[in-house]
Amino acid sequence: MNQKEKNFIKFLGTAGARYVVARQLRSSAGVWFNIEGVNFLVDPGPGTLVKCFSSRPKLDPSQLKAIILTHCHIDHSTDINVMIEAMTNSGHKKDRIVITTEESVTGEPVIFSHVRPYLSKLEIMKQGAQFEIASSIQLTTPILHRHTAETYGLKFTTPFGTMSHIIDTAHFEGLVDAYSNSDLLILNVVRLKNKNDREKGILHLTVADAQRIIKHIQPKFALITHFGMTMIRAKPWEVAKTMSEETGVHVIAVSDGMQFDLNQLRG
Ligand SMILES: [Zn+2]
Repeated sequence: MNQKEKNFIKFLGTAGARYVVARQLRSSAGVWFNIEGVNFLVDPGPGTLVKCFSSRPKLDPSQLKAIILTHCHIDHSTDINVMIEAMTNSGHKKDRIVITTEESVTGEPVIFSHVRPYLSKLEIMKQGAQFEIASSIQLTTPILHRHTAETYGLKFTTPFGTMSHIIDTAHFEGLVDAYSNSDLLILNVVRLKNKNDREKGILHLTVADAQRIIKHIQPKFALITHFGMTMIRAKPWEVAKTMSEETGVHVIAVSDGMQFDLNQLRG
């Protein structure tokens, strides 16, 4: 990795929902963070390893310090084992960590037992738990999300301020409090809207839900990603434009391969 390429979030994929992932209408690879040279990856869905190497510049998985897996759904977890092998160089790099849910390591585990010894730590998320990724980067999993798998969103304290990633969840009142005081807010917005009342609050945030959260929290930037078909048809960049007008916050619709420069948070 080029030394100049520092302090960014790179979205290797922006797909959410089964159809978009299964047809690869958008890439389902994970989200790569680089903060003052510390690299970590969130939710290595299908295609993550391949995307690391087809990115320009390339992203070298052996430079990762940590992988964070927010829940065991296929679109988030498929590449977790191969990424652990790549991050640790099959166990030769001994200081690498994975942070994930209990469900991802028990029952039908998505993290295989044979790659676990490669890690220096396999840490388990709980509501309100804190984890150290590096001395200047702390992760909190503030609240259990409402989703069909055990799922947590992420709140990072960093030298660039507080950055939160609201992973898959139905909308509920506790979200705004849990992710308050975020300078940067990333939201998985799978659906344009609910088709009917019965669909309300079953799995994912809609545009209206995301807008409500952004309006309350008032981050410097909000990034929307993890799109299902209704969002893609609606042209996410046009949706983001309307959301910006409605919330007074600069909302950006993420595209595959987009890199967000964290220095913007200091401006
Ligand atoms: Zn999910």
